[in-house]
Amino acid sequence: MMFKERQTIVAYGRRMLSVGLTVGTGGNLSIRCSDKLIAISPSGVPYETMRPSDVPVVDISGHAVLGKKKPSSELPMHLAVYQHRQDINALVHTHSRYATALSCARMDLPPIHYTIGFAGSSVRCAPYALYGTAELAEHAVTFMGNGKAVLLANHGVLAGGATLGEAFMIAQVVEYCAELFCLSRVIGTPHCLSAKEMQRVIRNLTEYGQPNGS
Ligand code: 13P
Ligand code: ZN
Repeated sequence: MMFKERQTIVAYGRRMLSVGLTVGTGGNLSIRCSDKLIAISPSGVPYETMRPSDVPVVDISGHAVLGKKKPSSELPMHLAVYQHRQDINALVHTHSRYATALSCARMDLPPIHYTIGFAGSSVRCAPYALYGTAELAEHAVTFMGNGKAVLLANHGVLAGGATLGEAFMIAQVVEYCAELFCLSRVIGTPHCLSAKEMQRVIRNLTEYGQPNGS
């Protein structure tokens, strides 16, 4: 049951570690299926040894449906986003270096590079709350707004998408833009794109790539 989704979570978890978006067992991933079941990475299980059968499946209230392992401690945050956003069906939570550095400085990620438009016109930093709490979940939903990513103060990043592939791409873009922002502050004064320019970028990005994903 849900073997493909559980397999996808394992594959992207390994990728998250190998491309440096997290360290150790930090971060987590989930997919919501059309029948409202959610596959989410297990808590504290190393990505290198994780198998599809280790990935728990829960219902929209968080009740266990499948699997023996305890779900991610951030299950409340994943459930909260799914409850508020019908356009998001997959989430990636990372502890990626530059984006987390911005969150430690309690800074939003401004539009330093046009590709931030995949996530929104900027990525806001939510106030600090203890990992795994309902408070963190509430902050994440509020500060994500209508965008597809949010920085979590002194913690990391949450990115969402229609698919896990899209959520992962957005987590990568957020990290890339955060690195550019930090580097441009080191070598000079960052010049960010205007709100008007970002509106044009976001409009054009809806037609970026091949039509109908072909
Ligand atoms: P889990 O291993 O419980 O998913 O926790 C990792 C994490 O990043 C908590 O914020
Ligand atoms: Zn975390």
